Amino acid sequence: MADLRPTEILLTDAQIQRRVRDLATEIRRDFPDDLHLVAVLKGAFIFLSDLIRNMSGHVSLDFMAVSSYAKGTTSSGEVRLLKDLDTTLDGRNVVIVEDIVDTGLTLTYLQDILRARNPKSLRTACLLSKPSRRQVDVKVEYTGFTIEDRFVVGYGLDYDEQYRNLPHIAVLEP
Ligand code: 5GP
Repeated sequence: MADLRPTEILLTDAQIQRRVRDLATEIRRDFPDDLHLVAVLKGAFIFLSDLIRNMSGHVSLDFMAVSSYAKGTTSSGEVRLLKDLDTTLDGRNVVIVEDIVDTGLTLTYLQDILRARNPKSLRTACLLSKPSRRQVDVKVEYTGFTIEDRFVVGYGLDYDEQYRNLPHIAVLEP
């Protein structure tokens, strides 16, 4: 485990920026007025900041923090809520902003607890998706890129709190 490092660049900075711009346009088109983004810390913070800078008009945001992977590159399947929202979702058009859907367990947990708070609508935007790893069938309306089953870092995604600052998405390998 100790000697894992980013190797191959899977998605370049330019590819990500182009796709995020398109996603922002699509989300704004679906919700031209009221739009409330709920970003999942920490992994989604760069995705969120690029998304909102590509959106015109009013948009509000809030943050949640969950832990699904304590350390390392395998899922424990256990989700813990570390930080809850500051504001109500009642009657709002909410889009969850997540970095990556892997097994789908984290997102299922989030969607369930947010749906219970009575939003007008609830959708999800994920930068990355690994469909081959899915354990639960979870709905994602806006997906940036579909990738293979490889552990990736960069653009907000970490390995043991490292590599979030890379502008691209890279594969972590020995
Ligand atoms: P899931 O509950 O869908 O299995 O896991 C979702 C969470 O696992 C993501 O929000 C992310 O924190 C972490 N995760 C899953 N795959 C990767 C990956 O390839 N790289 C990194 N850095 N985190 C991942």
